[in-house]
Amino acid sequence: MLIVMNSQASEENINKVVDFIKQKGFDAHVSKGEDHTVIGAVGRKVIDKRDIELLDGVKEVIRITSPYKLVSRVFKGEDTIIEIKDVKIGGNNIAMIAGPCTVESYDQMDATAEKLSECGVKLLRGGAFKPRTSPYAFQGLGEEGLKILREVANKYNMLVTSEVMEVSQIPMFLKYVDILQVGARNMQNFNLLKSLGEIRKPVLLKRGLSATIEELLMSAEYIMAGGNREIILCERGIRTFEHMTRNTLDISAIPVIQKISHLPIIVDPSHATGLRDKVAPMSKAAIAAGADGLIIEVHNSPETALCDGAQSLYPHDFAILFDELKQLAKVIKKHF
Ligand code: PEP
Ligand code: MN
Repeated sequence: MLIVMNSQASEENINKVVDFIKQKGFDAHVSKGEDHTVIGAVGRKVIDKRDIELLDGVKEVIRITSPYKLVSRVFKGEDTIIEIKDVKIGGNNIAMIAGPCTVESYDQMDATAEKLSECGVKLLRGGAFKPRTSPYAFQGLGEEGLKILREVANKYNMLVTSEVMEVSQIPMFLKYVDILQVGARNMQNFNLLKSLGEIRKPVLLKRGLSATIEELLMSAEYIMAGGNREIILCERGIRTFEHMTRNTLDISAIPVIQKISHLPIIVDPSHATGLRDKVAPMSKAAIAAGADGLIIEVHNSPETALCDGAQSLYPHDFAILFDELKQLAKVIKKHF
């Protein structure tokens, strides 16, 4: 951490800052410049930088070591590649996860999965426990939904992901799913993250509605600190002042995260835009920007969907999009 003193800072101010950081367990390295004195605080302790900012004579406090460690490229230089059976996610391998917002019935899942598997999708999505904004909206089929998801996936030789909402649900999820999804609304449910650190199955961690990239990485750090190294990050749009789309897709999060973290980062263009006709262009943008995968909502009959029909693709449109994305992937020397 670097502490930049303002040009009027007295010797007494400087000494006070030095004493303060030493008392907090840091070494202090003072460098006197023509205009400013800069104090380097070196150590492994955690300190709230506001405590230093409040001291007399301090102009600015700049953190130079990141608060996340295990998820960072400093800790692990090469890309993390997650392998589940014959599916790889990360590195040059782009994942395609598709399926309805929510599991509604066996027939709906079967009809959707059949179409998806015909065009080569290996990862099926479907919520069984839904974090709905309204308590009166369809909340999901619960364990019955997970059973249907598993049964249908087995029929088409697919893998599944579904959202886990609470710590107590984890053992149930381990029975049915291959990837446990943490939804945007639970990104900072630290108890859930800690418990997911203890399991040995991949976790798909979605960015919170108003979360910064650093907060997303810190949430991943919670899971990794528990020993679970298999985390897939997901950019799903953030809340901004713009209302033309449900959220604003932060495409720049992809290269930003890929530079500082070794974890794969996928994109959810469905929740990011909330509009079916925006899903294809945003999917292409994500792949062009280097995303390690996509999670797209597809429904056999979007107009009758119980949840998120307006942003769900028809299987036919999805098939065309997937074909185009495969071509695009070749250009950037990656593959689905
Ligand atoms: C979902 O993927 O089903 C979902 C609810 O997404 P998010 O958590 O990103 O809103
Ligand atoms: Mn949805």
